[in-house]
Amino acid sequence: MSMRKGGEIRLRGIPGSPGIAIGRAFLFERTRPRIPHRHLAPEEVEGEIVRFREALERSERELHKIIEIARQKVDPDAAAIFEAQLLMLRDEHIYERIEQRIRSERLNAEAIVHEEFEAYLERIQAPEDPYWDERASDVRDVLERLLRNLQKGRLLSNVEESSIVVADELTPADLVLFSRRNILGVALDYGGPTSHTVIIARSLRVPAVLGLHNITDLAAPGDMLIVDGYTGRVIVRPSRATRNLYHRHLRWLENHIRTFERELASLPAQTRCGRRIWLRVNLEFREELPSVATLGADGIGLYRSEPLFLGRGKFVSEEEQYAYYRQIVEAVRPEVATIRLFDLGADKVLLSTYREPNPFLGWRGVRILLDRPEEFLRPQLRAILRASAHGSVRILIPMVTSLEEIERFYVYYRAIYEELRAEGVAVAERVPVGAMIEVPSAAVLIERLAERLDFVSIGTNDLIQYLLAVDRGNDLVADLYQEFHPAVLHTLKHIIDGAHRKGISVSLCGEMASNPLATVLLVGMGLDEFSVNPVMLPEIKYTIRQVDCEQARLLTEELLALSRTEEIEKRLQAWHRTCCPELYRMKMEEMEDWPGA
Ligand code: PEP
Ligand code: MG
Repeated sequence: MSMRKGGEIRLRGIPGSPGIAIGRAFLFERTRPRIPHRHLAPEEVEGEIVRFREALERSERELHKIIEIARQKVDPDAAAIFEAQLLMLRDEHIYERIEQRIRSERLNAEAIVHEEFEAYLERIQAPEDPYWDERASDVRDVLERLLRNLQKGRLLSNVEESSIVVADELTPADLVLFSRRNILGVALDYGGPTSHTVIIARSLRVPAVLGLHNITDLAAPGDMLIVDGYTGRVIVRPSRATRNLYHRHLRWLENHIRTFERELASLPAQTRCGRRIWLRVNLEFREELPSVATLGADGIGLYRSEPLFLGRGKFVSEEEQYAYYRQIVEAVRPEVATIRLFDLGADKVLLSTYREPNPFLGWRGVRILLDRPEEFLRPQLRAILRASAHGSVRILIPMVTSLEEIERFYVYYRAIYEELRAEGVAVAERVPVGAMIEVPSAAVLIERLAERLDFVSIGTNDLIQYLLAVDRGNDLVADLYQEFHPAVLHTLKHIIDGAHRKGISVSLCGEMASNPLATVLLVGMGLDEFSVNPVMLPEIKYTIRQVDCEQARLLTEELLALSRTEEIEKRLQAWHRTCCPELYRMKMEEMEDWPGA
Protein backbone atom coordinates (compact mmCIF):
# COMPACT_ATOMS: atom_id res chain seq x y z
CA MET A 1 0.00 0.00 0.00
CA SER A 2 1.35 3.48 -0.80
CA MET A 3 0.07 6.94 -0.09
CA ARG A 4 1.37 10.35 -1.03
CA LYS A 5 1.21 13.17 1.42
CA GLY A 6 2.85 16.44 0.39
CA GLY A 7 6.05 15.40 -1.33
CA GLU A 8 6.50 12.27 0.72
CA ILE A 9 5.46 8.75 -0.14
CA ARG A 10 4.33 6.44 2.60
CA LEU A 11 4.48 2.72 2.09
CA ARG A 12 3.47 -0.21 4.17
CA GLY A 13 5.25 -3.54 3.94
CA ILE A 14 5.99 -6.49 6.18
CA PRO A 15 8.05 -5.75 9.29
CA GLY A 16 11.12 -7.99 8.95
CA SER A 17 13.57 -6.85 11.56
CA PRO A 18 12.71 -4.34 14.30
CA GLY A 19 14.22 -0.87 14.72
CA ILE A 20 14.01 2.51 13.00
CA ALA A 21 16.49 3.75 10.41
CA ILE A 22 16.63 7.28 9.00
CA GLY A 23 19.13 7.85 6.20
CA ARG A 24 19.92 8.10 2.52
CA ALA A 25 18.89 5.43 0.03
CA PHE A 26 21.46 3.31 -1.70
CA LEU A 27 19.85 1.49 -4.62
CA PHE A 28 21.42 -1.88 -4.98
CA GLU A 29 21.05 -3.47 -8.35
CA ARG A 30 22.58 -6.78 -8.90
CA THR A 31 23.91 -6.82 -12.42
CA ARG A 32 23.07 -10.26 -13.71
CA PRO A 33 26.12 -11.93 -15.21
CA ARG A 34 25.96 -12.51 -18.95
CA ILE A 35 25.74 -16.04 -20.30
CA PRO A 36 27.61 -16.10 -23.61
CA HIS A 37 27.43 -19.19 -25.87
CA ARG A 38 30.60 -19.98 -27.75
CA HIS A 39 31.88 -23.09 -29.49
CA LEU A 40 35.46 -23.98 -28.65
CA ALA A 41 38.21 -25.06 -30.97
CA PRO A 42 39.71 -28.41 -29.84
CA GLU A 43 42.89 -26.68 -28.59
CA GLU A 44 40.81 -24.29 -26.42
CA VAL A 45 39.18 -27.04 -24.37
CA GLU A 46 41.86 -27.55 -21.69
CA GLY A 47 42.20 -23.77 -21.23
CA GLU A 48 38.45 -23.58 -20.67
CA ILE A 49 38.64 -26.28 -18.00
CA VAL A 50 41.40 -24.34 -16.22
CA ARG A 51 39.30 -21.17 -16.44
CA PHE A 52 36.36 -23.05 -14.88
CA ARG A 53 38.53 -24.48 -12.06
CA GLU A 54 39.94 -21.04 -11.27
CA ALA A 55 36.44 -19.58 -11.07
CA LEU A 56 35.44 -22.44 -8.76
CA GLU A 57 38.40 -21.77 -6.47
CA ARG A 58 37.75 -18.03 -6.41
CA SER A 59 34.10 -18.66 -5.54
CA GLU A 60 35.15 -21.01 -2.74
CA ARG A 61 37.52 -18.39 -1.32
CA GLU A 62 34.74 -15.78 -1.40
CA LEU A 63 32.36 -18.09 0.41
CA HIS A 64 34.97 -18.93 3.05
CA LYS A 65 35.35 -15.24 3.71
CA ILE A 66 31.61 -14.73 4.01
CA ILE A 67 31.35 -17.71 6.39
CA GLU A 68 34.05 -16.18 8.55
CA ILE A 69 32.26 -12.83 8.74
CA ALA A 70 28.93 -14.55 9.39
CA ARG A 71 30.45 -16.56 12.25
CA GLN A 72 31.95 -13.47 13.85
CA LYS A 73 29.10 -11.07 13.28
CA VAL A 74 26.02 -13.21 13.22
CA ASP A 75 25.92 -16.73 14.59
CA PRO A 76 26.59 -20.32 13.56
CA ASP A 77 23.06 -20.69 12.16
CA ALA A 78 23.66 -17.89 9.71
CA ALA A 79 27.05 -19.28 8.71
CA ALA A 80 25.35 -22.62 8.03
CA ILE A 81 23.51 -21.09 5.07
CA PHE A 82 26.80 -20.30 3.35
CA GLU A 83 28.33 -23.59 4.40
CA ALA A 84 25.49 -25.25 2.50
CA GLN A 85 26.30 -23.08 -0.52
CA LEU A 86 29.93 -24.10 -0.25
CA LEU A 87 28.92 -27.76 -0.21
CA MET A 88 26.86 -27.20 -3.32
CA LEU A 89 29.83 -25.57 -4.99
CA ARG A 90 31.98 -28.55 -4.11
CA ASP A 91 29.47 -31.10 -5.28
CA GLU A 92 31.72 -33.34 -7.33
CA HIS A 93 28.79 -34.72 -9.22
CA ILE A 94 27.97 -31.28 -10.60
CA TYR A 95 31.42 -30.04 -11.48
CA GLU A 96 32.69 -33.31 -12.90
CA ARG A 97 29.70 -33.26 -15.21
CA ILE A 98 30.44 -29.69 -16.18
CA GLU A 99 34.05 -30.54 -17.06
CA GLN A 100 33.01 -33.62 -18.95
CA ARG A 101 30.46 -31.63 -20.97
CA ILE A 102 32.97 -28.85 -21.76
CA ARG A 103 35.16 -31.60 -23.20
CA SER A 104 32.49 -33.51 -25.08
CA GLU A 105 30.30 -30.64 -26.32
CA ARG A 106 33.10 -28.11 -26.70
CA LEU A 107 30.99 -25.28 -25.37
CA ASN A 108 32.20 -22.44 -23.13
CA ALA A 109 31.97 -22.91 -19.35
CA GLU A 110 29.30 -20.20 -18.70
CA ALA A 111 26.80 -21.88 -21.01
CA ILE A 112 27.30 -25.31 -19.44
CA VAL A 113 27.42 -24.07 -15.85
CA HIS A 114 24.15 -22.24 -16.44
CA GLU A 115 22.46 -25.30 -17.97
CA GLU A 116 23.69 -27.66 -15.26
CA PHE A 117 22.46 -25.42 -12.44
CA GLU A 118 19.08 -24.96 -14.09
CA ALA A 119 18.81 -28.74 -14.47
CA TYR A 120 19.80 -29.14 -10.82
CA LEU A 121 17.06 -26.69 -9.79
CA GLU A 122 14.60 -28.65 -11.86
CA ARG A 123 15.60 -31.90 -10.13
CA ILE A 124 15.17 -30.56 -6.61
CA GLN A 125 12.10 -28.55 -7.47
CA ALA A 126 9.43 -28.49 -4.71
CA PRO A 127 7.42 -25.31 -5.27
CA GLU A 128 4.80 -26.24 -2.67
CA ASP A 129 7.47 -26.13 0.02
CA PRO A 130 7.31 -22.63 1.58
CA TYR A 131 11.09 -22.63 1.87
CA TRP A 132 11.55 -23.62 -1.73
CA ASP A 133 12.05 -20.04 -2.89
CA GLU A 134 14.84 -19.61 -0.37
CA ARG A 135 16.52 -22.84 -1.37
CA ALA A 136 16.21 -21.93 -5.04
CA SER A 137 17.68 -18.50 -4.36
CA ASP A 138 20.61 -20.14 -2.55
CA VAL A 139 21.26 -22.24 -5.66
CA ARG A 140 21.00 -19.15 -7.89
CA ASP A 141 23.37 -17.30 -5.59
CA VAL A 142 25.98 -20.01 -6.12
CA LEU A 143 25.35 -19.96 -9.87
CA GLU A 144 25.77 -16.19 -10.11
CA ARG A 145 28.93 -16.25 -8.05
CA LEU A 146 30.43 -18.85 -10.38
CA LEU A 147 29.37 -16.98 -13.52
CA ARG A 148 30.72 -13.70 -12.17
CA ASN A 149 34.01 -15.32 -11.35
CA LEU A 150 34.19 -16.93 -14.79
CA GLN A 151 34.00 -13.43 -16.21
CA LYS A 152 36.33 -12.17 -13.51
CA GLY A 153 33.60 -9.81 -12.42
CA ARG A 154 33.36 -8.83 -8.79
CA LEU A 155 30.33 -8.02 -6.76
CA LEU A 156 31.57 -4.72 -5.50
CA SER A 157 30.26 -4.10 -2.08
CA ASN A 158 30.41 -0.44 -2.95
CA VAL A 159 27.51 0.37 -0.70
CA GLU A 160 27.89 3.78 0.81
CA GLU A 161 28.65 3.82 4.52
CA SER A 162 25.63 4.32 6.78
CA SER A 163 23.02 4.18 4.03
CA ILE A 164 19.71 2.38 3.73
CA VAL A 165 19.89 -0.37 1.15
CA VAL A 166 16.95 -0.46 -1.27
CA ALA A 167 16.68 -3.50 -3.51
CA ASP A 168 14.19 -5.85 -5.08
CA GLU A 169 15.70 -8.64 -3.00
CA LEU A 170 18.93 -9.37 -1.19
CA THR A 171 20.73 -12.62 -0.67
CA PRO A 172 21.99 -13.46 2.81
CA ALA A 173 25.52 -13.12 1.45
CA ASP A 174 24.84 -9.57 0.21
CA LEU A 175 23.56 -8.57 3.62
CA VAL A 176 26.53 -10.01 5.47
CA LEU A 177 28.93 -8.17 3.15
CA PHE A 178 26.99 -4.92 3.41
CA SER A 179 27.03 -5.12 7.19
CA ARG A 180 30.71 -4.22 6.98
CA ARG A 181 29.59 -0.83 5.67
CA ASN A 182 27.42 -0.29 8.74
CA ILE A 183 24.25 -0.07 6.74
CA LEU A 184 21.40 1.53 8.71
CA GLY A 185 18.47 -0.39 7.31
CA VAL A 186 17.01 -2.38 4.46
CA ALA A 187 13.87 -1.86 2.34
CA LEU A 188 12.96 -4.59 -0.16
CA ASP A 189 10.33 -5.15 -2.83
CA TYR A 190 10.09 -8.87 -2.12
CA GLY A 191 10.77 -11.28 0.71
CA GLY A 192 8.89 -13.18 3.37
CA PRO A 193 9.23 -12.74 7.11
CA THR A 194 11.02 -16.06 7.55
CA SER A 195 13.54 -15.71 4.74
CA HIS A 196 17.20 -16.28 5.50
CA THR A 197 17.90 -12.65 4.77
CA VAL A 198 15.47 -11.60 7.48
CA ILE A 199 16.96 -13.98 10.00
CA ILE A 200 20.32 -12.39 9.42
CA ALA A 201 18.95 -8.84 9.49
CA ARG A 202 17.49 -9.59 12.91
CA SER A 203 20.69 -10.98 14.29
CA LEU A 204 22.69 -8.08 12.83
CA ARG A 205 20.08 -5.75 14.35
CA VAL A 206 19.52 -4.04 11.02
CA PRO A 207 15.94 -2.71 10.74
CA ALA A 208 14.25 -4.22 7.70
CA VAL A 209 10.93 -3.94 5.88
CA LEU A 210 10.01 -6.34 3.08
CA GLY A 211 7.24 -6.90 0.59
CA LEU A 212 7.06 -3.22 -0.43
CA HIS A 213 6.44 -4.18 -4.10
CA ASN A 214 7.73 -0.98 -5.72
CA ILE A 215 10.21 0.75 -3.42
CA THR A 216 12.90 0.33 -6.09
CA ASP A 217 10.77 2.44 -8.47
CA LEU A 218 9.74 5.02 -5.93
CA ALA A 219 13.10 5.76 -4.30
CA ALA A 220 16.00 7.35 -6.15
CA PRO A 221 19.65 7.07 -5.08
CA GLY A 222 20.40 9.51 -2.27
CA ASP A 223 16.74 10.04 -1.34
CA MET A 224 16.02 10.45 2.33
CA LEU A 225 14.24 7.37 3.71
CA ILE A 226 12.69 6.24 6.95
CA VAL A 227 12.46 2.50 7.58
CA ASP A 228 10.32 1.50 10.55
CA GLY A 229 10.97 -2.18 11.11
CA TYR A 230 8.58 -2.28 14.07
CA THR A 231 5.48 -1.53 12.05
CA GLY A 232 6.55 -2.16 8.44
CA ARG A 233 6.29 1.49 7.45
CA VAL A 234 8.66 3.12 4.99
CA ILE A 235 8.62 6.79 4.02
CA VAL A 236 10.36 8.01 0.89
CA ARG A 237 11.49 11.67 0.88
CA PRO A 238 9.80 12.43 4.23
CA SER A 239 8.70 15.99 4.90
CA ARG A 240 10.54 17.94 7.56
CA ALA A 241 7.61 17.42 9.92
CA THR A 242 7.66 13.63 9.45
CA ARG A 243 11.41 13.56 9.83
CA ASN A 244 11.20 15.52 13.05
CA LEU A 245 8.45 13.22 14.25
CA TYR A 246 10.56 10.15 13.59
CA HIS A 247 13.71 11.70 15.04
CA ARG A 248 11.68 12.43 18.16
CA HIS A 249 10.28 8.91 18.09
CA LEU A 250 13.74 7.46 17.63
CA ARG A 251 15.14 9.57 20.47
CA TRP A 252 12.22 8.50 22.59
CA LEU A 253 12.80 4.89 21.70
CA GLU A 254 16.47 5.19 22.42
CA ASN A 255 16.06 7.08 25.67
CA HIS A 256 12.93 5.53 26.98
CA ILE A 257 12.99 2.01 25.65
CA ARG A 258 16.64 1.56 26.51
CA THR A 259 16.20 3.13 29.93
CA PHE A 260 12.95 1.28 30.19
CA GLU A 261 14.64 -1.97 29.28
CA ARG A 262 17.44 -1.38 31.72
CA GLU A 263 15.23 -0.28 34.57
CA LEU A 264 12.55 -2.84 33.96
CA ALA A 265 14.94 -5.73 33.39
CA SER A 266 15.61 -6.04 37.10
CA LEU A 267 11.98 -5.53 38.16
CA PRO A 268 9.44 -8.33 38.35
CA ALA A 269 6.33 -8.37 36.15
CA GLN A 270 4.14 -7.59 39.11
CA THR A 271 0.88 -5.67 39.22
CA ARG A 272 0.49 -2.55 41.34
CA CYS A 273 -1.37 -4.65 43.89
CA GLY A 274 1.48 -7.17 44.10
CA ARG A 275 0.28 -10.06 41.93
CA ARG A 276 3.19 -11.76 40.20
CA ILE A 277 2.61 -12.49 36.51
CA TRP A 278 5.04 -14.69 34.60
CA LEU A 279 6.34 -12.74 31.64
CA ARG A 280 8.17 -14.92 29.15
CA VAL A 281 9.35 -14.58 25.54
CA ASN A 282 8.48 -16.30 22.27
CA LEU A 283 11.64 -17.31 20.42
CA GLU A 284 12.44 -19.12 17.19
CA PHE A 285 16.14 -18.58 16.68
CA ARG A 286 19.10 -19.26 18.87
CA GLU A 287 20.59 -15.86 18.20
CA GLU A 288 17.72 -14.40 20.20
CA LEU A 289 18.60 -16.34 23.37
CA PRO A 290 20.59 -13.53 25.05
CA SER A 291 17.40 -11.40 25.09
CA VAL A 292 16.01 -13.59 27.88
CA ALA A 293 18.64 -12.28 30.31
CA THR A 294 18.92 -8.71 28.99
CA LEU A 295 15.17 -8.18 29.16
CA GLY A 296 14.81 -9.93 32.50
CA ALA A 297 12.24 -12.37 31.10
CA ASP A 298 11.00 -15.28 33.20
CA GLY A 299 12.31 -17.73 30.61
CA ILE A 300 10.82 -18.86 27.30
CA GLY A 301 7.05 -19.33 27.06
CA LEU A 302 7.12 -20.59 23.47
CA TYR A 303 10.09 -21.88 21.55
CA ARG A 304 8.92 -22.57 18.00
CA SER A 305 10.99 -25.55 16.94
CA GLU A 306 9.90 -25.62 13.26
CA PRO A 307 12.74 -23.33 12.10
CA LEU A 308 15.00 -26.36 12.67
CA PHE A 309 13.64 -27.48 9.30
CA LEU A 310 14.22 -24.12 7.72
CA GLY A 311 16.04 -24.26 4.46
CA ARG A 312 16.53 -28.02 4.52
CA GLY A 313 13.03 -29.54 4.48
CA LYS A 314 14.38 -32.84 5.69
CA PHE A 315 14.59 -34.93 8.77
CA VAL A 316 16.58 -33.48 11.69
CA SER A 317 18.36 -36.14 13.73
CA GLU A 318 17.89 -36.74 17.46
CA GLU A 319 21.54 -35.83 18.13
CA GLU A 320 21.26 -32.56 16.26
CA GLN A 321 18.04 -31.71 18.07
CA TYR A 322 19.50 -32.66 21.44
CA ALA A 323 22.49 -30.33 20.98
CA TYR A 324 20.11 -27.59 19.87
CA TYR A 325 17.65 -27.92 22.78
CA ARG A 326 20.41 -28.36 25.31
CA GLN A 327 21.91 -25.05 24.23
CA ILE A 328 18.52 -23.36 24.68
CA VAL A 329 17.89 -24.93 28.08
CA GLU A 330 21.35 -24.05 29.37
CA ALA A 331 21.13 -20.48 28.06
CA VAL A 332 17.99 -19.69 30.06
CA ARG A 333 18.72 -21.76 33.16
CA PRO A 334 17.39 -21.44 35.92
CA GLU A 335 14.36 -20.09 34.06
CA VAL A 336 12.12 -22.42 32.13
CA ALA A 337 12.33 -23.18 28.40
CA THR A 338 8.97 -24.19 26.93
CA ILE A 339 9.70 -26.10 23.75
CA ARG A 340 6.82 -26.63 21.38
CA LEU A 341 6.82 -29.86 19.40
CA PHE A 342 7.06 -29.36 15.64
CA ASP A 343 4.03 -27.46 14.39
CA LEU A 344 4.49 -28.53 10.80
CA GLY A 345 1.95 -27.99 8.02
CA ALA A 346 -0.41 -25.03 7.36
CA ASP A 347 1.69 -21.97 6.50
CA LYS A 348 4.84 -23.39 8.07
CA VAL A 349 7.06 -26.23 6.88
CA LEU A 350 5.23 -28.59 4.52
CA LEU A 351 6.18 -32.21 4.26
CA SER A 352 4.29 -33.71 1.41
CA THR A 353 4.12 -32.76 -2.21
CA TYR A 354 0.36 -33.08 -1.99
CA ARG A 355 -1.16 -29.63 -2.18
CA GLU A 356 -3.90 -29.39 0.41
CA PRO A 357 -6.92 -27.35 -0.65
CA ASN A 358 -7.20 -25.92 2.85
CA PRO A 359 -3.92 -26.39 4.71
CA PHE A 360 -4.99 -24.56 7.87
CA LEU A 361 -7.73 -27.17 8.26
CA GLY A 362 -5.46 -29.94 7.11
CA TRP A 363 -2.54 -32.10 8.07
CA ARG A 364 -0.93 -29.96 10.70
CA GLY A 365 0.67 -29.92 14.18
CA VAL A 366 -0.10 -32.86 16.45
CA ARG A 367 -1.88 -34.67 13.60
CA ILE A 368 1.41 -35.07 11.76
CA LEU A 369 3.28 -35.95 14.96
CA LEU A 370 0.86 -38.78 15.76
CA ASP A 371 0.67 -40.02 12.17
CA ARG A 372 4.44 -40.15 11.78
CA PRO A 373 5.69 -40.80 15.33
CA GLU A 374 8.92 -42.56 14.38
CA GLU A 375 9.95 -39.80 12.05
CA PHE A 376 9.02 -36.77 14.16
CA LEU A 377 7.66 -37.42 17.64
CA ARG A 378 10.18 -40.00 18.85
CA PRO A 379 13.43 -38.21 17.95
CA GLN A 380 12.10 -34.87 19.13
CA LEU A 381 10.76 -36.19 22.44
CA ARG A 382 13.97 -38.11 23.10
CA ALA A 383 16.01 -35.00 22.35
CA ILE A 384 13.89 -32.72 24.56
CA LEU A 385 13.80 -35.21 27.44
CA ARG A 386 17.57 -35.63 27.25
CA ALA A 387 17.96 -31.83 27.28
CA SER A 388 15.70 -31.69 30.36
CA ALA A 389 18.57 -33.05 32.45
CA HIS A 390 20.39 -29.73 31.89
CA GLY A 391 17.77 -27.28 33.14
CA SER A 392 14.08 -26.58 33.35
CA VAL A 393 11.98 -27.71 30.38
CA ARG A 394 8.30 -27.82 29.51
CA ILE A 395 6.79 -29.50 26.46
CA LEU A 396 3.99 -27.92 24.48
CA ILE A 397 1.78 -29.85 22.01
CA PRO A 398 0.51 -27.84 19.01
CA MET A 399 -2.94 -27.89 17.40
CA VAL A 400 -4.70 -30.15 19.88
CA THR A 401 -8.39 -30.67 19.08
CA SER A 402 -9.39 -33.59 21.33
CA LEU A 403 -8.66 -35.60 24.45
CA GLU A 404 -7.74 -38.62 22.33
CA GLU A 405 -4.81 -36.76 20.84
CA ILE A 406 -3.46 -35.99 24.29
CA GLU A 407 -3.94 -39.60 25.37
CA ARG A 408 -2.21 -40.90 22.28
CA PHE A 409 0.62 -38.45 22.87
CA TYR A 410 1.08 -39.76 26.43
CA VAL A 411 1.42 -43.34 25.22
CA TYR A 412 4.54 -42.32 23.29
CA TYR A 413 5.69 -39.91 25.96
CA ARG A 414 5.64 -42.51 28.73
CA ALA A 415 7.23 -45.19 26.61
CA ILE A 416 10.05 -42.87 25.54
CA TYR A 417 10.60 -41.62 29.08
CA GLU A 418 10.91 -45.20 30.36
CA GLU A 419 13.08 -46.17 27.44
CA LEU A 420 15.57 -43.39 28.23
CA ARG A 421 15.60 -44.36 31.91
CA ALA A 422 16.23 -47.98 30.97
CA GLU A 423 19.13 -46.86 28.79
CA GLY A 424 20.55 -45.06 31.82
CA VAL A 425 20.14 -41.64 30.17
CA ALA A 426 19.68 -38.70 32.55
CA VAL A 427 16.20 -37.16 32.34
CA ALA A 428 14.57 -34.60 34.65
CA GLU A 429 12.29 -36.07 37.30
CA ARG A 430 9.37 -34.03 36.00
CA VAL A 431 8.90 -32.50 32.58
CA PRO A 432 5.55 -30.68 32.52
CA VAL A 433 3.40 -31.23 29.44
CA GLY A 434 1.02 -28.59 28.13
CA ALA A 435 -1.15 -28.10 25.08
CA MET A 436 -1.68 -25.14 22.83
CA ILE A 437 -5.30 -24.09 23.05
CA GLU A 438 -5.70 -22.71 19.57
CA VAL A 439 -8.66 -24.59 18.12
CA PRO A 440 -12.22 -23.87 19.29
CA SER A 441 -12.88 -27.55 20.14
CA ALA A 442 -9.98 -27.53 22.61
CA ALA A 443 -11.29 -24.31 24.12
CA VAL A 444 -14.77 -25.78 24.56
CA LEU A 445 -13.38 -28.95 26.18
CA ILE A 446 -10.82 -27.12 28.29
CA GLU A 447 -11.76 -28.72 31.63
CA ARG A 448 -11.46 -32.24 30.27
CA LEU A 449 -8.16 -31.54 28.59
CA ALA A 450 -6.84 -29.71 31.65
CA GLU A 451 -7.34 -32.85 33.77
CA ARG A 452 -4.60 -34.51 31.73
CA LEU A 453 -2.20 -31.56 31.43
CA ASP A 454 0.23 -29.60 33.58
CA PHE A 455 -0.47 -26.26 31.89
CA VAL A 456 -2.04 -24.79 28.76
CA SER A 457 -0.96 -22.01 26.45
CA ILE A 458 -3.51 -20.08 24.42
CA GLY A 459 -2.50 -19.55 20.80
CA THR A 460 -4.66 -16.61 19.84
CA ASN A 461 -3.09 -16.32 16.38
CA ASP A 462 -4.81 -19.52 15.36
CA LEU A 463 -7.66 -19.49 17.85
CA ILE A 464 -8.96 -16.19 16.44
CA GLN A 465 -8.74 -17.36 12.85
CA TYR A 466 -10.61 -20.59 13.62
CA LEU A 467 -13.15 -18.95 15.92
CA LEU A 468 -14.00 -16.05 13.60
CA ALA A 469 -13.40 -17.95 10.34
CA VAL A 470 -10.84 -15.35 9.26
CA ASP A 471 -7.62 -16.51 7.61
CA ARG A 472 -4.77 -14.99 9.64
CA GLY A 473 -2.68 -14.42 6.51
CA ASN A 474 -5.31 -12.98 4.18
CA ASP A 475 -5.10 -9.21 3.54
CA LEU A 476 -8.67 -9.07 2.25
CA VAL A 477 -10.20 -9.99 5.57
CA ALA A 478 -7.54 -8.50 7.84
CA ASP A 479 -10.02 -6.04 9.35
CA LEU A 480 -12.22 -8.95 10.46
CA TYR A 481 -9.35 -10.51 12.38
CA GLN A 482 -10.29 -8.96 15.71
CA GLU A 483 -8.51 -9.70 18.97
CA PHE A 484 -11.22 -7.86 20.88
CA HIS A 485 -14.22 -9.52 19.24
CA PRO A 486 -16.71 -10.35 22.04
CA ALA A 487 -16.57 -14.05 21.08
CA VAL A 488 -12.79 -14.01 21.54
CA LEU A 489 -13.13 -12.44 24.99
CA HIS A 490 -15.71 -14.99 26.12
CA THR A 491 -13.62 -17.86 24.79
CA LEU A 492 -10.50 -16.63 26.60
CA LYS A 493 -12.43 -16.30 29.83
CA HIS A 494 -13.89 -19.78 29.40
CA ILE A 495 -10.40 -21.25 28.89
CA ILE A 496 -8.80 -19.44 31.82
CA ASP A 497 -11.63 -20.26 34.25
CA GLY A 498 -11.87 -23.88 33.10
CA ALA A 499 -8.14 -24.50 33.46
CA HIS A 500 -8.08 -22.81 36.86
CA ARG A 501 -10.94 -24.96 38.08
CA LYS A 502 -8.70 -27.94 37.33
CA GLY A 503 -5.78 -26.29 39.11
CA ILE A 504 -3.43 -25.69 36.16
CA SER A 505 -1.82 -22.47 35.01
CA VAL A 506 -2.67 -20.65 31.80
CA SER A 507 -0.28 -18.89 29.46
CA LEU A 508 -1.08 -16.85 26.35
CA CYS A 509 1.57 -16.96 23.64
CA GLY A 510 -0.29 -15.58 20.61
CA GLU A 511 0.54 -12.06 19.44
CA MET A 512 -2.35 -10.77 21.54
CA ALA A 513 -0.09 -11.13 24.61
CA SER A 514 2.24 -8.58 22.98
CA ASN A 515 -0.55 -6.04 22.49
CA PRO A 516 -0.40 -3.54 25.38
CA LEU A 517 -4.09 -2.77 24.94
CA ALA A 518 -4.90 -6.37 25.90
CA THR A 519 -2.77 -6.45 29.06
CA VAL A 520 -5.31 -5.13 31.56
CA LEU A 521 -8.00 -7.38 30.10
CA LEU A 522 -5.87 -10.51 30.34
CA VAL A 523 -4.76 -9.73 33.89
CA GLY A 524 -8.41 -9.03 34.72
CA MET A 525 -9.34 -12.48 33.41
CA GLY A 526 -6.74 -14.04 35.69
CA LEU A 527 -4.14 -15.04 33.08
CA ASP A 528 -1.04 -16.43 34.85
CA GLU A 529 1.56 -16.07 32.15
CA PHE A 530 2.22 -13.86 29.11
CA SER A 531 4.62 -15.06 26.44
CA VAL A 532 5.53 -12.16 24.20
CA ASN A 533 7.58 -11.03 21.27
CA PRO A 534 10.92 -9.92 22.85
CA VAL A 535 10.68 -6.47 21.25
CA MET A 536 7.44 -5.86 23.15
CA LEU A 537 8.49 -7.26 26.52
CA PRO A 538 9.49 -3.97 28.22
CA GLU A 539 6.24 -2.32 27.23
CA ILE A 540 4.13 -5.24 28.41
CA LYS A 541 6.04 -5.42 31.69
CA TYR A 542 5.55 -1.70 32.19
CA THR A 543 1.83 -2.05 31.48
CA ILE A 544 1.44 -5.02 33.85
CA ARG A 545 3.07 -2.91 36.56
CA GLN A 546 0.36 -0.23 36.12
CA VAL A 547 -2.52 -2.69 36.59
CA ASP A 548 -4.57 -2.91 39.75
CA CYS A 549 -6.14 -6.38 39.87
CA GLU A 550 -9.50 -5.42 41.35
CA GLN A 551 -9.89 -2.54 38.89
CA ALA A 552 -8.88 -4.89 36.05
CA ARG A 553 -11.39 -7.51 37.16
CA LEU A 554 -14.23 -4.98 37.22
CA LEU A 555 -13.21 -3.58 33.83
CA THR A 556 -13.11 -7.09 32.37
CA GLU A 557 -16.60 -7.81 33.70
CA GLU A 558 -17.85 -4.67 31.99
CA LEU A 559 -16.09 -5.58 28.75
CA LEU A 560 -17.56 -9.08 28.74
CA ALA A 561 -21.00 -7.53 28.87
CA LEU A 562 -20.38 -5.50 25.69
CA SER A 563 -21.40 -6.83 22.28
CA ARG A 564 -19.30 -4.79 19.86
CA THR A 565 -15.58 -4.96 19.17
CA GLU A 566 -15.32 -1.21 18.73
CA GLU A 567 -16.83 -0.49 22.15
CA ILE A 568 -14.43 -2.92 23.78
CA GLU A 569 -11.42 -1.41 22.04
CA LYS A 570 -12.45 2.11 23.00
CA ARG A 571 -12.67 1.17 26.66
CA LEU A 572 -9.27 -0.48 26.56
CA GLN A 573 -7.74 2.55 24.85
CA ALA A 574 -9.24 4.79 27.50
CA TRP A 575 -7.71 2.63 30.24
CA HIS A 576 -4.34 2.67 28.52
CA ARG A 577 -4.42 6.42 28.00
CA THR A 578 -5.20 7.02 31.67
CA CYS A 579 -2.96 4.42 33.25
CA CYS A 580 0.03 4.43 30.88
CA PRO A 581 -0.01 8.08 29.75
CA GLU A 582 3.57 8.20 28.60
CA LEU A 583 3.31 5.14 26.38
CA TYR A 584 -0.05 6.18 25.11
CA ARG A 585 1.10 9.66 24.12
CA MET A 586 3.97 8.36 22.01
CA LYS A 587 2.22 5.44 20.45
CA MET A 588 -1.21 6.81 19.76
CA GLU A 589 -1.01 10.56 19.38
CA GLU A 590 2.24 11.10 17.55
CA MET A 591 1.57 8.38 15.05
CA GLU A 592 -2.14 8.81 14.70
CA ASP A 593 -2.14 10.52 11.31
CA TRP A 594 -0.67 7.39 9.79
CA PRO A 595 -2.76 5.63 7.18
CA GLY A 596 -4.24 2.61 8.92
CA ALA A 597 -2.35 3.40 12.13
C1 PEP B 1 -0.69 -19.13 17.92
O1 PEP B 1 -1.33 -19.77 17.08
O2 PEP B 1 -1.16 -18.18 18.58
C2 PEP B 1 0.73 -19.44 18.15
C3 PEP B 1 1.41 -18.87 19.12
O3 PEP B 1 1.32 -20.32 17.31
P1 PEP B 1 1.81 -20.00 15.82
O4 PEP B 1 1.73 -18.51 15.62
O5 PEP B 1 3.19 -20.53 15.76
O6 PEP B 1 0.83 -20.76 14.99
MG1 MG C 1 -0.64 -21.64 16.30
